[in-house]
Amino acid sequence: MKIRSIDAFQVTYSLLDEKYSWSNDLFITTVVSTVVRVRTDDGLTGYGEVCPLGPAYMDAFAGGVPSGVAEIAPALIGLDPRQLNLLNERMDLALGGHNYVKSPIDIACWDILGQASGQPVSTLLGGRYRDGVPPYRAIPQRKPEEMAEDVLKYRAKGYRRFQLKVGGNANDDIARIRQCRAVLEPDDILVADANTGWLPHEAMRVVNGVRDIDVYIEQPCSTLQECLAVRKNTTLPFVLDEIIKGTVPLVEAYNLGAMDVVNLKISRLGGLTKAKGVRDLCQSLGIAMTLEDSWGGDVTTAAIAHFAGSTRAEHYFTATDFNSYVDIEIAPDAPRMKDGLLPVPTRPGLGMTVDESTLGKPLVSVGG
Ligand code: MG
Repeated sequence: MKIRSIDAFQVTYSLLDEKYSWSNDLFITTVVSTVVRVRTDDGLTGYGEVCPLGPAYMDAFAGGVPSGVAEIAPALIGLDPRQLNLLNERMDLALGGHNYVKSPIDIACWDILGQASGQPVSTLLGGRYRDGVPPYRAIPQRKPEEMAEDVLKYRAKGYRRFQLKVGGNANDDIARIRQCRAVLEPDDILVADANTGWLPHEAMRVVNGVRDIDVYIEQPCSTLQECLAVRKNTTLPFVLDEIIKGTVPLVEAYNLGAMDVVNLKISRLGGLTKAKGVRDLCQSLGIAMTLEDSWGGDVTTAAIAHFAGSTRAEHYFTATDFNSYVDIEIAPDAPRMKDGLLPVPTRPGLGMTVDESTLGKPLVSVGG
């Protein structure tokens, strides 16, 4: 089996809620996603998706994806898409860094491997632990009382895990955490995610201000050193996200005792192949995980469902059902959250069918 062609399409999603806002006054109302299609010489088609959260969140932007795919794809034509480590090595030799560009290509090849072997991607990632995983709901940064209303709104829809977007004014953030925790039940999970938005002195004010609250603190500051300074002065459970860019940063943070939980974003790590390596190491080290991506739609959500569903239940912290945030269904049979669970698809590959009429014309086509 050989890769015959690689195409990249872009879709602009509008958010179902009017605005998604987080630290540093960043926000989106629409978001551009890239869907990559890989076709083989024996008629299989795989899909992957990458959707940066606008151009200013992490080292990724939508405009970079088609250019990056055009750079990498010629090196992949003629390769066996099932040889995923070899494929990833070839991508790394074709383009340095740019993990987010490689991620949708890698995911599409997992989709093909699954179809070719008759197995769902979750089985190939190590095995299906559960039929469904409970996702968290991200609550955009707004006034404290508005965020508490959002928490209640999404709790009524079945969510029991919530991630508040903080990283703003410290006094406001303390009020956000207090008011949202007050409307939750004891078994509900609350995370305050600053997305690197605080300096250490601000983070210290917040963790001191909520020290009596059952809340996780996620990525308070930009660097490991800053986060560690906060970590050493709080007993609140601690999540690292933006700085976990691969195995080496994970091990460095682990050796310093810098976190209890990590957030693994598939595209930041370069795709499912590399994310699986980091995930399996976390399982060996006893680190719980949020399994997700920066943003996305149906294809991203399917990939997350397989990744999360093949993670040991004791190491599972949360995941994200991104397709519940956006307006376009590019794969009508993609997994969707129901009764508080994101189902793990059982059909071969990613287990969903992309409706290509939603994608428009490809921006990049290599091979044919
Ligand atoms: Mg985060």
